[in-house]
Amino acid sequence: MTNFFNNSQSPFAKPIETQYDDLKSNYKQIFMLAADQIRAEVDKFKPENPCAHCPIKDCKIETKDVFTDYPAGCKYRDWQMQIITFLTGDYRQKLKQDYKAIMDKKSECECSRCGNCCRLATSEHSYDQLKQRAMRGDKFARSFVSVFVPYKTEEEAKLANPEFFKLLEDTMEDQKVYYYYCPKLKGNECSDYENRPDVCKDFPHNPLKLLPSTCAFNAWKNAVAKQSMLLKAKTDIIEFYKNKLG
Ligand code: SF4
Ligand code: SF4
Repeated sequence: MTNFFNNSQSPFAKPIETQYDDLKSNYKQIFMLAADQIRAEVDKFKPENPCAHCPIKDCKIETKDVFTDYPAGCKYRDWQMQIITFLTGDYRQKLKQDYKAIMDKKSECECSRCGNCCRLATSEHSYDQLKQRAMRGDKFARSFVSVFVPYKTEEEAKLANPEFFKLLEDTMEDQKVYYYYCPKLKGNECSDYENRPDVCKDFPHNPLKLLPSTCAFNAWKNAVAKQSMLLKAKTDIIEFYKNKLG
């Protein structure tokens, strides 16, 4: 298997956008690996030649594949039901543990206080949408709007960190992005560090999120990049199985 990230290299040996391009171009391979791993799991309890004792006569189904449309009463249909139970139960629990392991690894990095996550934060939601979500009980949104306010214009956001702004703009392509900053940042220092909310304490919240090149957590993000992509691919594949078999 390709070694996507050579751990002997500094995580900053390549420009961040090159690293992201590497990931994107390797995602197809990672997705196929995830699909193979899930397929190997579900094949473990595929029934072995149940047709010999099947009460349904002349069903004419030749290809006994996982996504074949089987009639009720068919053992392969039972298998499909077991697959959904397994993927949304035990297997999802295992993925949750994998996610926890990825997030736990974050503690190996320490914030270098460059201030860039406070200077230019993004959301797929507008400020009004975030405030509505906060009012409806969304903890992350509540924490976010407790400190961040929107930039008045994209030009202002760009001036805050031109390199990161360009990376976000190039990567998000057609996706709408809203830009925010925290008024409590003074220079590179948080003026209310002791009272900063969870959104600050828990940053970065997602191993697949783009980070400013100055962020010390890029080392973590790069170290867990393949695992994180694999996890995302598996989560997407489980949804696909659910939709196809449910
Ligand atoms: S409260 Fe402090 S740590 Fe949080 S975003 Fe604002 S300046 Fe940054
Ligand atoms: S961008 Fe990263 S290193 Fe810089 S202040 Fe935020 S968490 Fe710390």
